[in-house]
Amino acid sequence: MTEKQYVTIDGIPVEINGEKNLLELINKTGVKMPTFCYHSELSVYGACRMCMVEDERGGLSAACSTPPRAGMKIQTNTERLRRYRKNILELLLANHCRDCTTCQNNTKCKLQDLAMRFNIEGVRFPNTAKSNAEEDSSSVCISRDAGKCILCGDCVRMCNEIQNVGAIDFAYRGSNMVISTAFGKPLAESPCVGCGQCVAVCPTGAIVVKNNISPVWKAISDPDVRTSVQIAPAVRVALGRELGVKDGEDVMGKIVAALHRMGFDEIYDTSLGADLTVLEESAEFMERLSSGENLPLITSCCPGWIQYCEKKHPELLPNISTCRSPMQMMASILKDQAKEKGEKTFHVAVMPCTAKKFEAARDEFKVDGAPNVDVVITTQELVTMIKEAGLMFDALEPEAVDMPFGTISGAGVIFGVTGGVTEAVLRHVIANKSRADIMMVANCGQRGDEGIKEFDITAGESKLRLVVVSGLSNAEKVLQRIKNGEKIDFVEVMACPGGCVNGGGQPFAVRQDKEERSKGLYKSDRLLSIRRAEQNPILKTLYDDIIRGREHELLHVHYGKHNQ
Ligand code: SF4
Ligand code: SF4
Ligand code: SF4
Repeated sequence: MTEKQYVTIDGIPVEINGEKNLLELINKTGVKMPTFCYHSELSVYGACRMCMVEDERGGLSAACSTPPRAGMKIQTNTERLRRYRKNILELLLANHCRDCTTCQNNTKCKLQDLAMRFNIEGVRFPNTAKSNAEEDSSSVCISRDAGKCILCGDCVRMCNEIQNVGAIDFAYRGSNMVISTAFGKPLAESPCVGCGQCVAVCPTGAIVVKNNISPVWKAISDPDVRTSVQIAPAVRVALGRELGVKDGEDVMGKIVAALHRMGFDEIYDTSLGADLTVLEESAEFMERLSSGENLPLITSCCPGWIQYCEKKHPELLPNISTCRSPMQMMASILKDQAKEKGEKTFHVAVMPCTAKKFEAARDEFKVDGAPNVDVVITTQELVTMIKEAGLMFDALEPEAVDMPFGTISGAGVIFGVTGGVTEAVLRHVIANKSRADIMMVANCGQRGDEGIKEFDITAGESKLRLVVVSGLSNAEKVLQRIKNGEKIDFVEVMACPGGCVNGGGQPFAVRQDKEERSKGLYKSDRLLSIRRAEQNPILKTLYDDIIRGREHELLHVHYGKHNQ
């Protein structure tokens, strides 16, 4: 039996149990260590120095980069440490703009939060914030403001380590140091894929989601315009976080009630678009299996992934499914119907995703020059609108989405989590479809938050290899295997680690809460009486009345090389 080992933290012995660093061990004791640059999923940078601890000899070390050693005695909150942290905060504030009240991150900013926690009442140093720092708003997905950057490097490590994109990095040295794209180009001309994962880790308002709320209010207020809105699956289990409901609780009914109260004329669930995707993508997969062409089939729901493929691996574009994303399938049908009726419409999509803003603006999804989705707002933007409208979210009675597109299946709902598209397709293509068979499919290997999951299934005489991947660094590893000739038949790719539940437009969450979101979607799926896409009765009507013969026009797309 190995002997237990302890570190004494603030006089309390704490057992070491595989923690990588002191910071993780301290957090176990109920002390929340201040830090700007530590994220458990990123490499340790140790730059902000806020998590310093003091040992019994008066030595200082950064808790994030110090491994726990048996017998260590450390203090986390001494007079010297408090002074040290206040100094760091004052220096950061001195180099920071003072736009808190109008900043998109007001009340969500870590700098603001720690300045309050450490009781900073004034800044003794002159303000040296980059006065002429230009905001880079060239991307349709995110905006950058160097005047609010504290150079913690979180965005750089996220973009490079987790997403393998490398759109941004440190440039220059000393007091001239900034976060920049290569050669200082606008973000829109960089390799950025718009995933918004840098926004999710930025502790200040230096990188934020592009705000598109105003045109939505304007359309709602216009009596001549009929407004419709669709809500993506992942939104329902994350939006509540900022409105007093815990992560993972399905608040779809309350979201619908809120949108009705705001004045939307028609409210739909993108899960119906996902049901259509299941049917179309399954048929495409079967066709490719029988022809043997363009295998593996790679999913096409995620616009961050599509841009990554376009920019880094255009030779693999023929492998990407020609199916439009659920958002675009839904939108093309809604816009088509509005055109039939001669209505002037404005269609909004509420998405967990920053990259969807780019997808909505793509030429491929315009009809006569007008986009099918007029505006994409993220979950966070919808939270802002709910607050702005003064709606007491807690008090809203849940309401159902509108007909004629109001029926969904559980297969569509699980599109919001990594592995969900694969599971939905499997539910559709398996020969036996009893309740027990559906439960068996859940155990194939596609569930869970690992970045790469792979498994085989038997189809007739052949064995098929399926791979589910989330996070673009993980996608890159699988793409290299495909390029090296490995036999893989189906690949699901989601750019955001864990899938859309952790999209760049969702309220920020820690790991455990992110897991609750996935569990929440699986629970919503279990509670639905329709679990397979083809059981959704609306699909038959849609195919009979609108789609048949126009599948390519309404539901498919061919991506080419395209810059943001
Ligand atoms: S949006 Fe994604 S790709 Fe673009 S800079 Fe941020 S992390 Fe990198
Ligand atoms: S933009 Fe945000 S995440 Fe990136 S270095 Fe600046 S403060 Fe840190
Ligand atoms: S995983 Fe989802 S949220 Fe993230 S970029 Fe792709 S579609 Fe958007």
